[in-house]
Parts: sequence; structure tokens; C-alpha cells
Amino acid sequence: MNRSGGTVDDLVGRARKGDPRAVARLISLVEDASPQLREVSAGLAPYTGHAQIVGLTGSPGVGKSTSTSALVAALREAGQRVGVLAVDPSSPFTGGALLGDRVRMQDHATDPEVYIRSMATRGHLGGLAWATPQALRVLDAAGCDVILVETVGVGQSEIEIAGMADTTLVLLAPGMGDGIQAAKAGILEIADIYVINKADRDGANQVRRELRTMLGMADRPEGDWHPPIVLTVATKSEGIEDVAAKIADHRGWLTDSGELERRRVRRARDEIEAIAVTELRSRFADLHGDNRLDDLAGAVTQGQLDPYAAAEDIVASM
Ligand code: GDP
Repeated sequence: MNRSGGTVDDLVGRARKGDPRAVARLISLVEDASPQLREVSAGLAPYTGHAQIVGLTGSPGVGKSTSTSALVAALREAGQRVGVLAVDPSSPFTGGALLGDRVRMQDHATDPEVYIRSMATRGHLGGLAWATPQALRVLDAAGCDVILVETVGVGQSEIEIAGMADTTLVLLAPGMGDGIQAAKAGILEIADIYVINKADRDGANQVRRELRTMLGMADRPEGDWHPPIVLTVATKSEGIEDVAAKIADHRGWLTDSGELERRRVRRARDEIEAIAVTELRSRFADLHGDNRLDDLAGAVTQGQLDPYAAAEDIVASM
């Protein structure tokens, strides 16, 4: 039993039927690394793999939040069940507070087919890399067809999110010097779909030209995905249906080409490695309370043992 009065099995059952409170509770359990984490993870495992995870990245102010909200509307129109995860790696606050400010989701707040969750990952052991896949699993098991992951922060977190997504949208906008900056940060290469937002402003076509020039230089073999460029005005939902259509096209390509499977295997491998390394770290930390590490350190200091042999000794005993 847990605080909400149900077993993990109950919660998983209720989440699968679309109970938003059960979904929220499960995300809290995985996010807080609660003692039931493993039970939750095992309970969810048979029901995952359906959702298409779509990451939205781009500089602050480019229109991620506005686009996310507009996309939710478009996907709902198409009858899809939608999850939204707004990840803020710089904030220690989690839950509802952040959403009010960040994701313009008021329109969707009462729609039972839309799950919205914000997650702050600062201070988490392993941060974003650790907490986000768990939350994604919950939303996936809850039957979401598409999960939109919006990063609030900048920099490394965007690359991390791209690593977790099936489909990555990179948002650019005129007048933000994005063309050059993004290329520098290595953001451009990770895009499956380019969205040039704020197309109501001067310079959108210029950004498109720059982007085309840059993409033209990248040789892509036959049968590869050629990232499309879509112009949008998110505030008016213009072009958003087109973005939704490209997301669906990309899913089709991922499935047909076998890339979906490859990306997911790669992701699972990274996740297993992260969990295993965390476990090993924690076992290693436990050794500090153990005299053996001190003894080995003493022997290395005295020249009786080399550090490699000492480390081997430790690893063998873990
Ligand atoms: P985020 O920081 O990337 O999430 O960006 P927001 O979605 O918060 O948008 C930043 C600002 O740009 C807000 O004031 C939006 O109203 C505005 N905005 C978003 N999309 C558009 C657009 O297509 N055209 C114009 N002119 N403004 C936009």
C-alpha cells in the first residue's frame, strides 16, 4: 500500500484506464526514487513501447511552450491521447507550480485524454538522465499515443532529451541569431524536423535559406530521413497541423526503416548502463565505511601495491 491507498498494481491498472490521479501518483513514485520504484518499473514494463516520444528543443523564447500547446490541440483533434512532460533541469520545484508559468495549457487542463506534468530535475541523483525515462514510461503505459517533452533549460539538457526521444523537433525563429548559435551547439544535427516559428516576423525565409544551405552540405544516403522544414506561427496555430503531419510521417519512417527499434535498443542500453553504474557507485561509496579500502590505500601509499591491482581487488569484490 502507499499513501494514495492503492497497491502499485492497482495504480498501474488505474493509470492504464486513464485515471489522471493514478498517473500523477506513479510519476511521483518514480521521480522521488521511492522504495516502490522497482515495483512500479516492473509493473509498467509490459505496457510500454506504444507512445511516440517527441522532444521539442530550442532557445528560450523561441516558442516551445506555445508550440507545445498548439500541438496538443492538433493531436487531440486527430483523436490521439497526449502526454506532455515539461522538464526543467535548473529548478528544484516540481509538480503544478511551474506549469502555470511555463506551459500554456489552460485550454487542455480539463481534457481527460491529455496528461500534463512538469518535472524539475535539479538535485536528482543522475538528474535528467535518470528521472525522465521513468516518467515517460508511466505516460506510455497510460496509453499516450504521443508524448511531447519540452525542455525549459538550455544547453546539454537538449541533447539529453534528444537522446530520449523517437522524434526531435528543433525550433528556430528569426531574429534570434539561431542559425549560427544552434549550429555551434550541435543542436542542428539532432533534428528530425525543423520548425521555424514566428514566421509572422521578418527573416523567417532567411532562416530557411540558411538552414537549407547547411542541410544541403550534409549528404544523406537513399532511404534516409530527410528532415523537413516547417514554418509556423504558433500563437495562431498556423502550420501546426503540418508539424503534426510530419511527426506522423517520421513515426512511419522510424517503424518501416527499423530505426525505431535501433533507437529504443540504444536507449535501453544507456539506461541499463546508467542504473548499473549508479548501483556500483553506491556500493563503492559503502566501501568508505569499510576498512578494506583504507587498507588498500595504505598499501598503495607504502608502495606495496599498485593502484590498478588495488582497484581490481575492489571491483572483484563488488
Ligand atoms: P519558449 O520559451 O521557447 O517556451 O517560448 P514561449 O512559447 O514562451 O514564447 C515566447 C514568446 O514568443 C511569447 O511571448 C509568445 O507569445 C511569443 N510567440 C510564440 N510563438 C510566436 C509566433 O509564432 N509569433 C510571434 N510573433 N510570437 C510568438
